[in-house]
Amino acid sequence: MNLKKSKNIYDEAIKYIPGGVNSPVRAFKSVGADPAFIKSGHGNKIEDEDGNTYIDYICSWGPLILGHSDERLIEGIEDILRNGISFGLPTKIEVDMAKHIVESYNGVEMVRMVNSGTEATMSAIRVARGYTGRDKIIKFEGCYHGHNDCLLVKSGSGAITYGVPTSSGVPADIVKNTIVCRYNNLEDVKKTFEDFGEDIAAIILEPVAGNMGVVPAKREFLEGLRKITKENGSVLIFDEVITGFRISYGGASEVYGIEPDMACFGKIIGGGFPVGAYGGKKEIMEMVSPTGPVYQAGTLSGNPLAMHVGYRNLKILKENKNIYKELEEKAIMIEEGIRKNIEELNINAKIVRFKSMLTLFFGKGPFENFDDVQSCDTEMYAKYFNEMLNRGIMLPPAQFEGMFLSIAHTKEDIEYTIKANYEALKAIK
Ligand SMILES: *Cc1c(COP(=O)(O)O)cnc(C)c1O
Repeated sequence: MNLKKSKNIYDEAIKYIPGGVNSPVRAFKSVGADPAFIKSGHGNKIEDEDGNTYIDYICSWGPLILGHSDERLIEGIEDILRNGISFGLPTKIEVDMAKHIVESYNGVEMVRMVNSGTEATMSAIRVARGYTGRDKIIKFEGCYHGHNDCLLVKSGSGAITYGVPTSSGVPADIVKNTIVCRYNNLEDVKKTFEDFGEDIAAIILEPVAGNMGVVPAKREFLEGLRKITKENGSVLIFDEVITGFRISYGGASEVYGIEPDMACFGKIIGGGFPVGAYGGKKEIMEMVSPTGPVYQAGTLSGNPLAMHVGYRNLKILKENKNIYKELEEKAIMIEEGIRKNIEELNINAKIVRFKSMLTLFFGKGPFENFDDVQSCDTEMYAKYFNEMLNRGIMLPPAQFEGMFLSIAHTKEDIEYTIKANYEALKAIK
């Protein structure tokens, strides 16, 4: 495959942008390749600067359920821009958007728009702390909540650990109130509540983890968290930035039938634009300024263009509920095809699927927490990624990410993908 133009742009990029990219995973480092620079996307395909086309299974990391540049999102956008790009004053579309989210999600009675998932989780934590008057929070190993200081913590493997920052530049002082437990391990959480119950403001988690590869929470785990937070007056926050409006219209809250006290959104609600939101019970959200004492603001929050596109995206998803059925059917096709290939070629790998999110883990499994996924053979994944790329398939350029489907992926795409998967696995065996 010719990536000459991409390479030239990359050489230029690394002079001016750290690592040449505006978000680390795009650098393709963990798959030992140079990044393809993308020029355009239509429906199920993206095209790079050298004219190579790929079936896209990144879909902007989840938002593009309708595929790239769906006409329904774009139509009339120019008129919106002609009527003012941004005001810094309230607009009606923000109310339409908020109402729509509240009516769609169990557990959210009020919502505030922000500009990214990172902002959403940062603000939700602040509100939960303001509401409870407590400082400590629990997060889980392998869950990603954006790049907030207090959430950029994983733990040493194994037991419950106090926060050790995962990123340099985060003072130990800032993460001293972050307690890290193991995902799907209720005992860790129970023990933490025995020790610090009175001080715990919130538990935040991805109800289906998508940032250590796809690792769904067990039902008993989520039920246990719901119970223990209720008993202790702590706030349960579902970070649905990746799952909300993707795994089903009502997110994990709907799929599991468990209502959190607060929820964070992003990715899908912007339809590809930079949008985030956090919401929750009225009593909690009324803590937010100007009704309450918790300060949170944003110059471009709820900006008209992002709101119009995001709102349209949500409306299409709501009015066409069969979209979720279709997505899942396609994901099942991929899952079954790949599973068959793995068995036939006797590869040490496992395909994990939750609704329309999938990860091919190069390891035996089961994959229930961070330690489990860490045991994967990331070199095998790197080889696999490159074999697939050469066959015109864009997978997430890292083992610990999910692949995403859109309704623009056709049956033929999927059949081709399964065939390519067979060849790729055979080649790296
Ligand atoms: C992507 C993601 C975030 C961060 O969102 P950004 O828009 O990248 O800041 C937070 N939480 C989860 C679960 C995510 O997947």
